[in-house]
Amino acid sequence: MATTLTPSESAQDRSTVRTLLRLWPYVRPVRVRLFTAAFVAILASCIGLVIPLVLKWMVDGPIADRDPAGVWLGALYLLLLGLAEALLFGFRRWLVARPLSHVEAEMRADLYGHLQRLPVAFHDRWPSGQLLSRGTTDLMLLRMFLAFPLTFLLVNGVTIVVGVIIMLVQDWTLGLVILVPAVPVMVTCVVFEKKYSRAARAAQDQVGDLTTVVEESVLGIRVVKGFGRHRSQARAFRALSGRLRGTELRKARLLATILGVIVTLPEVAIGAALVLGCVRVADGELSAGTLVAFLSTALALRWPVDSIGFLLAMSQEAATATERYFEVMDAVPEADPAAGSRAAGAARGSAAPRSAEPRIKLPAGSNVGLLFENVTFRYPDAPPDSPPVLDRVDLHIRPGESLALVGATGSGKTTLTALVPRLHEVTSGRITLDGVDITAMSREELRSRVAVAFEEPTLFSATVRENVLMGADEDELERALGVAQADFVHALPDGVDTQVGEQGLSLSGGQRQRLALARAVVGRPDFLVLDDPLSALDVHTEAAVEAALRRVLADTTALIVAHRPSTVLLADRVALLSGGRITAVGTHHELLRGNPEYAHLMAADPAGEREVKR
Ligand code: ADP
Repeated sequence: MATTLTPSESAQDRSTVRTLLRLWPYVRPVRVRLFTAAFVAILASCIGLVIPLVLKWMVDGPIADRDPAGVWLGALYLLLLGLAEALLFGFRRWLVARPLSHVEAEMRADLYGHLQRLPVAFHDRWPSGQLLSRGTTDLMLLRMFLAFPLTFLLVNGVTIVVGVIIMLVQDWTLGLVILVPAVPVMVTCVVFEKKYSRAARAAQDQVGDLTTVVEESVLGIRVVKGFGRHRSQARAFRALSGRLRGTELRKARLLATILGVIVTLPEVAIGAALVLGCVRVADGELSAGTLVAFLSTALALRWPVDSIGFLLAMSQEAATATERYFEVMDAVPEADPAAGSRAAGAARGSAAPRSAEPRIKLPAGSNVGLLFENVTFRYPDAPPDSPPVLDRVDLHIRPGESLALVGATGSGKTTLTALVPRLHEVTSGRITLDGVDITAMSREELRSRVAVAFEEPTLFSATVRENVLMGADEDELERALGVAQADFVHALPDGVDTQVGEQGLSLSGGQRQRLALARAVVGRPDFLVLDDPLSALDVHTEAAVEAALRRVLADTTALIVAHRPSTVLLADRVALLSGGRITAVGTHHELLRGNPEYAHLMAADPAGEREVKR
């Protein structure tokens, strides 16, 4: 299955041509221009091959007859032919430049769009540097391939065939001498192609790894500096770039070998033809003009032959780039509506069978809040025999109720919350919103009804307004900011239009958390899922946000991951997650009195996390 491909698994045996053919859908819209350009280039090349024939005519005609006017006329022909060749090549370049940058842009846009649709599980598995290098270096290689090797492998191939025919027609013995190296050159090309393809794949993957290291150390610069890790980080970088350098050198050696063969053998053949030709001209078996024409044709073919080495190398790199591009594009995006992913969940090997009957007694009517029924979850990349992160979880959050979820670090709280907006798919069991299975809703509907705020609030490089609204109604902005106690934004240089995120103003952890909270409540969602929404707030702000949250929670159904009593107290009831199961549900005080694990979690560290191993 395509989704099981990871970046490190590279297909070794592939057909270069078949791989490159996958580019056709992108090339199709510009095919007319590309074919015209190739035709123009073939024409230009063939014009180049007429030049030796004019030379032959000059040597055997006007020069032999000592006719200056004829020589001038010949020179004029040569000038016109040269001009026509240059103009046609220029025209070719003009023809392809614009459509090919269009192809590159289209492919990049498709890749980006696809990445947005791929499930979180995919992004968990793929290093971001690998994705980044596929969207940049690889696509650039593809554009260069379409602009150059694709056309010139064809053009040069045709030129070589036409040139060889011309030479054979001039004099077939000399022609055969020139053709002798063709066999060893072709054998070298085949051997080279296989080896180079492997080296090219390794190099492009290593660029991805290097990008990942750079990205991580830039994003984590505070940790790197704070822990004095810059030297070891630099060492890791040097090791990786040393590895890449080794691979690039291996590529260069391969290229040098094939170029050596491709350049030397034909030169030797031309030399041999020259000697043989001179002897035959001296013997009067061959006209001087024919020898001149023959040798100039052979020389004119030098570039088309010499270039084959690096054209093949570039094609190999392009095939690798195509392969890397489609590895991402072939990954299956989130299905919508969910019939497909339900099947995928089943295919992953559900541990527990779905219960036919809900095991929690539900009140009559459809308005039944948020319900987890027999939910088992195992991360898709976890070994199949490992215990599931969530094991047959049953949990009912009644309409309008707020439920706090408490558990030791690593007990699966974040995982449980991520299942509600379907960032991950349940392995078995089901989750319903007001009686409707979330996998039966469209993602749009699901995400309009459920809002989430994560522990790590992410701000995009955009204004405060855009960050909070994220497409929601403008009128809601002030109310949401008020609820989240995020009035500090009005004191920013441009108020709600201040740029924040990577390219803008840096906000404190507490400020970012309040914006994330505002973002969660802006669309007046029916269901709110908050992953420790108050963790980065100071005591005073926390009190203010709590007060505001209390108002919000009054009319939504909410699931709140909580680490400290103050957050727990916002909720009506608490559920304790332990060993992948809900082991207790009740009010804070009930659990505090009756459940030692809960009491321990709440008492041990008011700030929250304490390593309690399962
Ligand atoms: P909590 O929020 O309670 O601290 P998590 O839900 O983050 O716990 O993690 C529960 C378990 O799932 C942990 O053992 C963690 O290592 C594992 N886990 C978390 N995220 C992933 C992931 N993306 N892929 C595989 N395992 C994961």
